[in-house]
Amino acid sequence: MQSDQDKEALKKEILKLKKDRKAILLAHNYQISEVQEIADFLGDSLELSKISKAAKEEVIVFAGVRFMAETAKILSPKKKVLLPVQEAGCPLAEMIEPEQLIELKQKYPDAWVVSYVNTTAEIKALSDVCCTSSNAVTVVKNVPVKKVIFVPDKNLGWWVQKNVSEKEVITWPGFCFVHEYFSLKDLEETRRIHPEAEVMVHPECIKEVLENADYVVSTAGMLKKAKESKAKKIIVGTEEGMIYRLSKENPNKEFYSLGNAKVCTNMKRTTLSDLRRALIKDEYKVDLSPETIDRAQIALERMVSYV
Ligand code: SF4
Repeated sequence: MQSDQDKEALKKEILKLKKDRKAILLAHNYQISEVQEIADFLGDSLELSKISKAAKEEVIVFAGVRFMAETAKILSPKKKVLLPVQEAGCPLAEMIEPEQLIELKQKYPDAWVVSYVNTTAEIKALSDVCCTSSNAVTVVKNVPVKKVIFVPDKNLGWWVQKNVSEKEVITWPGFCFVHEYFSLKDLEETRRIHPEAEVMVHPECIKEVLENADYVVSTAGMLKKAKESKAKKIIVGTEEGMIYRLSKENPNKEFYSLGNAKVCTNMKRTTLSDLRRALIKDEYKVDLSPETIDRAQIALERMVSYV
């Protein structure tokens, strides 16, 4: 266990290393608070990838999980992208293998593949277009075919189908273990404790939760909604790290987790010591084949052209 003094010394060292290495540090909204505090930018995976593309620094340290660092590499292939903890993966992204998607494509040859950004680079390379939780509905509305294969999150796929009834959405049974375990009972109980609160949930939650929330929004949508809302109390159905950022940006409002706080252990793996090591040892470089980068880039760029 590090003392506060040790942590402050580490933070100073990281800032110096970052300057010497001409690196930029990006951290996802679900990272531990001390990593969030020291980051140059905080955001969701796509916001951070766009920042990494625009950044003048040649070294990107991505405090997040593997698919996020891969997306940054796809969008900025010439830059060095470091994922400080090699094992920081996303179980949702790993729920579909390339062979399984190839099989689905053979089964539905007329369908377009729409893949959530929470996928591996190989899955993106096999997709027609990518989407995020905030633009999934718009992207599916805009694809020029009537049928889509939506991977890998079944809950987001259900939400898309509900909002795009003119298209057929074939979903894959993947899920995020953090969001899957917010239950309708949690929602009802938290509403009972805070009857005046509004409820906003992430579209990776199960359908019963999505149907009964006041707002279904991405993490970026939560930040916007929290600022705009007149409610003084807001119940939040997403990973608990988000509550730290919401509270910081809205000190006059109270935020409560929907039921017990849910933690993504993979998102909490990166510590200050990992950031220090990553900058000293250049660990761990994200390496993707040029073919994968080229094909995945097409799917990501098509998404941008649709929204
Ligand atoms: S919160 Fe869910 S989707 Fe996000 S990294 Fe963790 S497991 Fe993956």
